[in-house]
Formats: sequence, C-alpha cells, structure tokens
Amino acid sequence: MQLRLHAFDLPLAHTFTISRESISSQPTLIVELIQDGVSGFGEATSNKYYGFTVERMAGDLVGLQPQLEAARLEDPAALWSQCQPLLADDPFALCALDQAAHDLWGKLAREPVWKLWGLSIEKIPLSNYTIGIDTIDKMIVKMAEFADWPIFKIKLGTDHDVEIIRELREHTVATFRVDANCGWTADKTIEIAPQLEALGVEFIEQPLRADRLDDMQRVGAQCALPVIADESCITESDVAKCHQAGFRGINIKLVKCGGLTPARRMIAEARRLGLKVMVGCMTESSVGISAIAQLLPLLDYVDMDGAVLLAHDVASGVRLQRGRCVYPQAPGNGVSLLGAGRDPLTGKP
Ligand SMILES: [Mg+2]
Repeated sequence: MQLRLHAFDLPLAHTFTISRESISSQPTLIVELIQDGVSGFGEATSNKYYGFTVERMAGDLVGLQPQLEAARLEDPAALWSQCQPLLADDPFALCALDQAAHDLWGKLAREPVWKLWGLSIEKIPLSNYTIGIDTIDKMIVKMAEFADWPIFKIKLGTDHDVEIIRELREHTVATFRVDANCGWTADKTIEIAPQLEALGVEFIEQPLRADRLDDMQRVGAQCALPVIADESCITESDVAKCHQAGFRGINIKLVKCGGLTPARRMIAEARRLGLKVMVGCMTESSVGISAIAQLLPLLDYVDMDGAVLLAHDVASGVRLQRGRCVYPQAPGNGVSLLGAGRDPLTGKP
C-alpha cells in the first residue's frame, strides 16, 4: 500500500459554539491508502480538547510509512491490530488510517462496507442536526434553516439552558436532544431534567465533567432523563466504566476510540451491558461521515451532521436528506475526494 496525506481547513457555514469553545473553521487530515491503483480514504479532524493537531497526526502516520508500504491489505481489522501498538498515543491518526483501510477494502471487493459486514440498511436511525450555543434568536434562525429535520441536538451549558429549550420548542415539534459538554453540575442536571423532559427532550449527553463518575452515580439514579456518555467514553475500556457509573448509553466517536474496528467491539460490549448506542461526529467532511454511515444498522441514535455544518465539502459520499442517510451507489465507504489538499507537514499543495 502507498500512503498519501491531505490537509484541509473546512470552513463552517456558521461559527459553532459549545460550552468550552467556538470555531469557524475545522482543520482536518485525510488519509489516502492506495493499492492496485485503488484509493481508500479516511479522516480525523484536529481537536483542542483531546490535544490532536493535523501536524501531530501526520507526523505519527509518516512514521508508519515503511510498514504500510511493505503490507498488502487483506483485512482492515488485522491491519488495525498491527498498527495500534505503533499509534497507541494517537487514536485520531489510527482512526483515519482504519477508515481508509475499510474504504479501500470495500472498493477492492466492490461492495459497500456495511454489506461486507453482513448488515442491512433497511432499518437505520435518523441523524439529528446540531444547533450550537448562540443567542436564542440566532438558534431559532439556525433551526429554521433545517426546519424539516426530525431531530435537533441542542448544545447547552449557559446560565439560561431551560429558557433556550422553552423558546426553541415554540418553533418546532421535532425531537430534542441536549448536550452540555461537561458544563453542568449533578444538582443542576437533576433539577432541570424534569423541565427538559416536559419540553420533549429525549436524553441528556454528558452533563458532568468526564472524570466526575461519582457524581454521575447520583445523576444516574435520580435524573428524570437518560444520560448518554460522550467525554466519559473514549476508548474500549470506558464502556463498562460508563455502565457502572449509571450512564444509560454511550456516544462513540471514531476519532476517540481509534476507528471503525474498535467502535464495532464497543457497540457489541454496550449491547451486552444493555446500553443504548450512539455514534457522533466531529465536524468531519463526507470522508469521516461516510465511515460512520457504515455502522448505522447497529445504532440507536446517530449524530452525523458534520458535513452538513460545512460551507464547502472536500469529498462526496453519503448525503443526509432531512436526517435520513442516503448511500451512494459505490463500494467501500462510498467516498471520493473532490481535490487534493495541502501536504500537512510542508504546507505545500
Ligand atoms: Mg457530545
């Protein structure tokens, strides 16, 4: 296999604000794996909270170039097992590599990845559209732009969170999910959950700081709404911890756990423990979103609106129509890159 790396800055349609930061452009790394003239693509966006930059991911992957060039892709899960010890400190880079391996595997076999896994896409969950924190008027305008979507995920973590939901509810009958991104205390979560439930919120994502698993026990026992772990559920060993801490479900992010290969194991373990399973995105282009789409038949909930939040996409792949995933007639993850990016290490085109 040959390895090629592409860096892009993905411009967002709107500045996106959550409880800890605002962004208007999302740096991303696209990994291209080439074998027999066929290219597979994978992606990992940079992330301040988790400490991964495009340059760091690219540097880590370039270190693997000799091993990758000597290898032929047979099975993406086997490649993941070989590369994981070498990228143990960089699950973001490992994720992009694993997505590219799956896309390439499916393209070489001329079948979609979900089909090669023995899944059917007849019954799949609808994606939410995410509304970042803003003035209530602007949040209403953003929601109106996607008025025909059935589910909205509302970012919270302000001093007037219930008011936000009450005002938004005046403008839609859609299902709401809320995500506090670690911005609440246990007392606040327990106190406002009944009001949120009455306003049609189906669950709360990560109200408490990731390490507050003791407080989470109390929230799990007393909260009127189910609580889903995101920042508390990074890797495979966190699934059982989240279950013990009283979370009712987990939101898996491919970049956090290291790709599709470990995500499938996390889903299997969550099912064994009776947890609900969601997969979330990180403002990826259609490269990363199309990888998530392969897992849809295994999920209860999905947040895969990343490419929809962009002003310009850099790839084609799955599309979302009113939250419904439309798969392309294409093998692998169904991804094509629309143009080469810059070299992530030299900055040259
Ligand atoms: Mg979240």
